[in-house]
Amino acid sequence: MAASYDFSGKRALVTGAGKGIGRGLVIALMRYGAEVIALSRTQADLDSLKEEVKGLITVCADVSDMATVKAELSKLRPIHLLVNNAGVGQLQHFLDVTPESYDRIMDINLKAVMFISQFIARGMVEGGVEGSIVNVSSQASQCALKEHTVYCTAKAGLDMLTKMMSLELGPHKIRVNAVNPTVVMTNMGRLGWSDSKKAGPMLDRIPMGRFAEVEEIVNPILFLLSDQSSMVNGTTLPIDGGFLAS
Ligand code: NAP
Repeated sequence: MAASYDFSGKRALVTGAGKGIGRGLVIALMRYGAEVIALSRTQADLDSLKEEVKGLITVCADVSDMATVKAELSKLRPIHLLVNNAGVGQLQHFLDVTPESYDRIMDINLKAVMFISQFIARGMVEGGVEGSIVNVSSQASQCALKEHTVYCTAKAGLDMLTKMMSLELGPHKIRVNAVNPTVVMTNMGRLGWSDSKKAGPMLDRIPMGRFAEVEEIVNPILFLLSDQSSMVNGTTLPIDGGFLAS
């Protein structure tokens, strides 16, 4: 039987909500009664999502533009649930990484998580609101993957940021966890793994012998957001078919 959740009375913010995992998560959270704020940077994606799920609140912003993010979200607090999902990748050999590509990936995948979380958590603390935050990390945080230097580095930082947040926000009844998916064939997944010469060796290293589906990432995130995981704090949960264990 599929798990069921009751997020009624909870306001949730999902970043990177326009496509892929974020989009699937927004739809699931709405199904289980949350009031959802979908933040993403392409208006057309937000418009089509709004058509799909009635009552959705949308914010069109880049997560690395903190001034805009704060201005938009300050009208929408308190927020009880936060999923830092927005992320980007760029395939580059270590020797080809530029300061520009380094800054772009770090700004979106790590710095934005730090400061959006700080802003939202401060609101939770001031409002006496209990909360749950999930950071969407990756198996790449714990395993070096060819042409993923900056991405792996940012996600490794995100795992430790998750632990730090759990340590310092736990006393305020705010739990913080990360999920660490393997490849999912979203736009991002296609970027790195469409080529069968790359996909084959990766599949060989996943004991389950396949990549993950969006809902297989969404379901553990729902669990971590819900009271069903009320004592789970500071974890980095692989959703990788056993990749990191092997
Ligand atoms: P996706 O299909 O490319 O979707 C990412 C979404 O985030 C898009 O709507 C994108 O908007 C938005 N976004 C990207 N940068 C943004 C920014 N600066 N500000 C606001 N929104 C932004 O990617 P996905 O596969 O769902 O990935 C979601 C998360 O899962 C990422 O953190 C990724 O690192 C992680 N992850 C993915 C995989 C995988 O194989 N797919 C594996 C492990 C972890 P635009 O399209 O308009 O740019």
